[in-house]
Amino acid sequence: MKSYYSCDIVLFGGGIAGLWLLHRLRQTGYNAVLLEASKLGSEQTFRSQGIIHGGLKYSLSGSLSNAENNIARMPERWRACFRGQGEIDLSDSLISSARYYMWSNSGVRAKLKAYLGSKSLAGRISIVEKSNYPKLFNGSAISGTLYQLPDFTIDTESVVRLLSSQMQEYIYSIENSSTHFELNKKGEIDNLIIDHDNSPSDQVTLKIKAQRFIFAAGLGNEKLISSAGLRKPVAQRRPLQMVYLSKPGLPDAYVHIIGNNPSLNPQLTITTHEGADGEVVWYLGGEVAENGVKKTSGILIDETRALL
Ligand SMILES: Cc1cc2nc3c(=O)[nH]c(=O)nc-3n(C[C@H](O)[C@H](O)[C@H](O)COP(=O)(O)OP(=O)(O)OC[C@H]3O[C@@H](n4cnc5c(N)ncnc54)[C@H](O)[C@@H]3O)c2cc1C
Repeated sequence: MKSYYSCDIVLFGGGIAGLWLLHRLRQTGYNAVLLEASKLGSEQTFRSQGIIHGGLKYSLSGSLSNAENNIARMPERWRACFRGQGEIDLSDSLISSARYYMWSNSGVRAKLKAYLGSKSLAGRISIVEKSNYPKLFNGSAISGTLYQLPDFTIDTESVVRLLSSQMQEYIYSIENSSTHFELNKKGEIDNLIIDHDNSPSDQVTLKIKAQRFIFAAGLGNEKLISSAGLRKPVAQRRPLQMVYLSKPGLPDAYVHIIGNNPSLNPQLTITTHEGADGEVVWYLGGEVAENGVKKTSGILIDETRALL
């Protein structure tokens, strides 16, 4: 059976980028639909630490570029959404921690980086008085300075659930389908063809005409770009290998650790999550996860344990 459909925009990928864009496009009056090849949010979005960054990560050199200044606006833009006053109403989804911290140990390098970072984030970062320390730092023998950042963390599952529930009728699974593009003589996309095999006697082909096809498919973009016959745009790959920590009595931790490592990245970026059995789990990102890609998991776990 063959069916035809036309719309303004077809979006590929139902992670945070695709779902956000679907909302914004439909709010603006476009007839947009979203196609998802697997489970909504199940790739990078659910694996992430959920930090709404305000630019600290990029400010440890002491200055901010234009792009970094734009990132600086993100926490307030998202907070407005969680208050129900932003471009998308997220008031029924969850913030996992309203506070995010930066801790710098008392080493010279760490102090200098934290000082430069605090200068470039002037007005958006404050030193936390010892009496207001969160549990992790309270009563601890470790010395250094604790700062509160504008950043906060979100529960990505609740955000994806909310964004998708409001757009159900415009989201289509192509999990068991194959897709390809029909190109015109100029090499532009004419139609998207979706073939769906329910059974040998029940094959459905859907032909979609749209003014725009937008790829928000994360890792899937590379294949889509090549099947659409497009020249590859420059894209960044940033593989990570992240260690998780779980043990009884683990307190909540939401903090960048600025250490004495020579680079300008936080040495550790810790967030707290709920494990499959309801246990507390720390995700240990930051430089340790970026450098971890080249290491075996055994070596990485040993090194992270020593660092902690
Ligand atoms: C370990 C880790 C920690 C991170 N922590 C943070 C953080 O704290 N803060 C932060 O801001 N960022 C963080 N990031 C980055 C952040 O997760 C990503 O930038 C973001 O999730 C990307 O969202 P996306 O929608 O573009 O991609 P994805 O979430 O990867 O979604 C892409 C979707 O496209 C679908 N898809 C693939 N191919 C096709 C196809 N052909 N057709 C249709 N659908 C397709 C996939 O199934 C998937 O659902 C982290 C990333 C990782 C890996």
